[in-house]
Order: sequence, then structure tokens, then C-alpha cells
Amino acid sequence: MSYQSVNPYTGELLKTFELHSDQEMQDALRRADERFRSFGTLEERVAVLKKAADLMIERREELAALVTMEMGKRIQESRDEVNLSSAILAYYADNAPRFLAKRSLDSTVGEAWVEFEPIGVLVGVEPWNYPYYQLVRFVGPSFALGNTILLKHAPGIPQCPLAFEKILRDAGAPDGAYTNLFLSNEQVSALIEDPRVQGVALTGSERAGESLASQAGKQLKKSTMELGGNDAFIVLEDFDPKLAAKYAVQGRMTNAGQACVGSKRFIAVEAIADEFLNEVTNLLGTFIPGDPTDETTTLAPLSSKLAQTRLLEQIDDAIAQGATLLMGGKAPEGPSAFLFPTILTDVAPSNPAYRQEFFGPVVLFFRAKDEEEALAIANDSPFGLGGSICTSDEKRARKLASKLQSGMVFLNFSALTTPELPFGGIKRSGFGRELSSFGIEEFANKKMICIVDPGKLTNVVA
Ligand code: NAP
Repeated sequence: MSYQSVNPYTGELLKTFELHSDQEMQDALRRADERFRSFGTLEERVAVLKKAADLMIERREELAALVTMEMGKRIQESRDEVNLSSAILAYYADNAPRFLAKRSLDSTVGEAWVEFEPIGVLVGVEPWNYPYYQLVRFVGPSFALGNTILLKHAPGIPQCPLAFEKILRDAGAPDGAYTNLFLSNEQVSALIEDPRVQGVALTGSERAGESLASQAGKQLKKSTMELGGNDAFIVLEDFDPKLAAKYAVQGRMTNAGQACVGSKRFIAVEAIADEFLNEVTNLLGTFIPGDPTDETTTLAPLSSKLAQTRLLEQIDDAIAQGATLLMGGKAPEGPSAFLFPTILTDVAPSNPAYRQEFFGPVVLFFRAKDEEEALAIANDSPFGLGGSICTSDEKRARKLASKLQSGMVFLNFSALTTPELPFGGIKRSGFGRELSSFGIEEFANKKMICIVDPGKLTNVVA
């Protein structure tokens, strides 16, 4: 096995990187463990993050070009990803001191408070779809807190994590604080088993989640799992169906449909279903495959030929099990990993596609007789990451939001992400949260300290 950059637009093999040896991995672990014990002050760590945020902006064109080359993202989306990643690092640089400040507790037995402490070396495992954004969601808060990091990124985008590692180094990160490693899954398992490693953060598929969560669980180690989704986009009869279609398509087509929190199941109530579906079909028809480095391109390739083949098979299986293909369902000839925007309807609960994630520009469309049925379809999913509901009645929106089984709910818009909003799911979308103050607490020892006042001890079990 090796890590390979292959341009999914041209099919060209750009670079190959051999796996790090077991010895190199052990050296990196030793350095991470040593650094954990002398990782400087919080002020020093956030200064590194601030500098890294600035360097990301300075190097935006170079960083964006790498993403577009390695996984095919449209160049403007790659730039947007770099901007967002820089903002996340800056957010933790600015806010970590506040988030990590000592917190007083009300107690009947004396003065008590919580201090936030790092726990040790963490292993991060990340996917290719947002090569920098996925990294910084984990690295920003972990670094600020004082945990040290060994990072295994996806094998299809090796140059992106190397560029990010260089940014952290150039920003002044001390040796051992953050190390990018090209590892096999077996090597990751060996790291998780090592007593010096205290936590595991994964962003990836259910398959990876099952494996890494169980390995971490077996070792009694903390983990966070940011996994897949097949999120609902619900449209009610009191919302403009054209505007809803615009938001839904935006939510589905971002990153060529390869976003965990993308709107994947469109659910419209009967009264506006036809108008909504017509508009969705029209809008999807405007996405034309093109060179992702060209600013005018509307549809980028998928991340790889393998992703294209798998998605085409998944669509074919859905149709074989009774779904109707309304548009798309095929790929243009040639070396590029494109897939034409696709709509599937009549996806019955008995069809395996009903419960699957389609990781590309594929819409599953459902009609519901009313709000209640729309919600029932939305919740009939093994996942629950970031659903959307469109209604012009704010009271109704708030009520429905609390009934949607999801880690995040977006009202009158498709799912989005910003540094200050917690990100994460329930059910098979995983557990734990990244971003915001919640993200920095995941791998912290929330150490409770209490100066016990014996005079106050009544009804206390000691
Ligand atoms: P993936 O195949 O699970 O890979 C993700 C990462 O996990 C890769 O680095 C992969 O490396 C590694 N991995 C997989 N199995 C492993 C194992 N047993 N041991 C150690 N490492 C392992 O996912 P993907 O196809 O790249 O990414 C797409 C998935 O990620 C989608 O389901 C998407 O919804 C989800 N996602 C979730 C979020 C979120 O925040 N919830 C965000 C983005 C993406 P190898 O390839 O070397 O195995």
C-alpha cells in the first residue's frame, strides 16, 4: 500500500508516497509523548494557531490548488475551504483561553471548580472530502488545549496534509506537537493500543467508525466519531417551493455532492411537491462537468474513479430494487471521475437505498402527504447529522426542529458550518462534537477540584 495523488479530472498519477515504517511511527509517538509533557503555555500554543491561520491565508492559492488537484474540488470551493479552515484556527486562538478558563461550580460542600487539562497523545484519522477543514476541526481545539497529535489522513490526498504540517511548523509548532503520518489501518490499530495514546478522533464512513470506535472502546479510550449521513431537506406547503429548491440543490451539490452534511433526501409535502421537484430538476440541469481549475465550471469530478464506479453501482442497485431514475444516473466517457446530477424517486423503505448515504450528486426525492408524514420519513433513517426544514411559520419551524432526530437542524436553509456552531451527529452519524466550545471539551480532562468544608457535610456520601 502507498499514498497516491491522482488527479480525478485528468486521471494522471501525480505523486506516490510510501507508508511510514513502524519504526518511524514509533519515533513519532515517542516525540509526541515527550512533547505532551512540555507543550508550552496556552498563550504560546494559541500564538502558533494564530500564526498558522495567517499563513493559511498567505498560502491560500497554493493550498487551494493542491485540493483541486488531489480530489477535484472546484477551485473557488477549495479557496473557500482554506478561508474557513483559517477562520477555525483563528477562532480557537481567540477563544480557547475563555473556553478553558477555570469554571466555578455551585456546591453545598465547599468551594469547587473545574479545570480543563489536556489528556495526552491523540490519534486523528481524517477523510479526503475537505482535506484542511476536517483537519483543523480536530487540530485547532486539541492543539490549543495542549494535547499532541498523530494524524493519519486519507491515502488519496497526501500532499494536502504535508502542506498543512509545514504550516504548523512554520508557525512555530514545537517538534512532536503535530505529526502527519502515512499509515496503514493496521499501524493505526497499533497506535490505538499503545498506552501513551489517550484518544481517537475519526471523521469518515460508518465502516471506519465501527472499526475505530470498537478499537478505542476495547482500550477504554475516549473517541469522537464524525460519520456519514443521509440528511433530510423537508419542504412544507407554506414555503416558496422555488426558493426551497435553490437551497436544497445548493445543499446537495456542494463539493460535488461529497459532503457528510449535504442534503441527501428531499422530502416535499404533496401541495408543492410537483413545483419543487420541477425546479430541482431544472436547477440540477445547470450543472455541467468541467475542469475544476476553471472558475466558470459548475460541476467538478468526484474524488476518484473508484468513487465514480461505486456510486454508479449504488444507483444501479437502487433502480434494480424498484427506484425510478428521473435524471442522470450515468457518467460521461473519459478519464474524469464525473457523475451527472441524478434524481431517484419511488425509493421504498424496503429498498436498501432508502437507508444509505449516496456520496455524490444524487438526490432521493420523497413525497409526503403532510408535515407529520414528512417528519416520519425524515426520522426513518439510521443516520442523524444535519437536517433542514423550510416553512415560513417560525413557530412551526421551532416545534418541528425539536422533533427532527438529528445532531443539527437548519431552518429555512441547507446545512452549513461555521467555527462557532457545534458540529456532529446522532445514531449512525456518530458521537461527539467538533467546533465551538463543545469541540474543545471532547478531549479535555474536566478536572473537578473541591475544598471541602467539613462543617457543611450533611446528607453527603463520602
Ligand atoms: P472512509 O473510507 O471511512 O475513510 C476516512 C478515513 O478513515 C481515511 O483516512 C481512511 O483511511 C480511514 N480508515 C478507514 N477505515 C479505517 C480503519 N479500519 N482503521 C484506520 N483508519 C481507517 O471515509 P471516506 O470515504 O474517505 O469519507 C467519506 C465519509 O466520511 C462519508 O461517509 C462522509 O459522510 C463522512 N464524513 C463525515 C463527516 C462528519 O463530520 N460527520 C465529515 C466528512 C465526511 P484508509 O482509506 O487508508 O482506510
